[in-house]
Amino acid sequence: MKVELLIIGNEILIGKTQDTNSNWMAKRITKYGHHVKRITTIGDELETISNTIQKILDRKPDIIITSGGLGPTFDDMTLVAIASGLKRKLELNKRAYNSIKKVYDRAYKKGLLQLEGMTKEREKMAYLPQDSTPLPNTVGTAPGVKINERNSTIFILPGVPAELKAMFRNIIVPILKEKKGNFIEKGFLFSGIGESQIAAYTNKLEKKYPQLWIKTHPKIGLSVQVEVSITAFNVEDGEELVDKALNEIREIVTKLNGKIKERE
Ligand code: ATP
Repeated sequence: MKVELLIIGNEILIGKTQDTNSNWMAKRITKYGHHVKRITTIGDELETISNTIQKILDRKPDIIITSGGLGPTFDDMTLVAIASGLKRKLELNKRAYNSIKKVYDRAYKKGLLQLEGMTKEREKMAYLPQDSTPLPNTVGTAPGVKINERNSTIFILPGVPAELKAMFRNIIVPILKEKKGNFIEKGFLFSGIGESQIAAYTNKLEKKYPQLWIKTHPKIGLSVQVEVSITAFNVEDGEELVDKALNEIREIVTKLNGKIKERE
């Protein structure tokens, strides 16, 4: 499946928060053989969010996952903006309302909060775009949201990493597993030959194995090292092909008097 991630938050744009959510999700999506096609980061701005979601939908990904901006404060505007981008009304979702109320009632009874009952700010989190499904938040308060739009499924998740991870594991991983693809990533390190010297050979191999993505990454360490890695997405006999191509690169490196260091 093709996946796009939309990371929302002013804190990220000013450098106060480092966006770890996208990296965490991308690793897992890839592991299940799906393709993260693009990661977009934007601020909490109504028009920007609304326009961006439309542009992402135009690219027709199977899944869109957003992170951030679901909280009770006025600057958390992901849901209003997405509703506007999808031209849907925002309406009070009873299921979301009840689950939010339950969390606050419980917290009040436990003495964790001083303020009892639902307030305008708490109620805000229960307003979802029309025809969406609330996703239970087992760690925090704001529910996530699932929306089917055209041929894409949009998952709107909270920004707090613990909440996002729990929802991702509970709701998105089963879908990724069900439609599991095949992803292979293998490689090794070598030294003694520069990236530019090996480039001529890897370029030839790219042509020979068009299904594979052959990439070199310079690593500046004690000695200049280059890592070569090959990735294959849903390639038939991918494992065999990757091993074959890697062996050809090993032979080239040895012929050029380079030193190979296998990855642990
Ligand atoms: P909640 O509804 O649970 O309050 P939220 O969706 O409103 O969550 P934000 O207000 O966007 O979440 O972010 C809350 C906190 O989560 C931020 O202050 C930051 O610490 C963390 N956070 C937000 N986005 C990310 C991200 N992309 N990567 C890592 N941490 C993040």
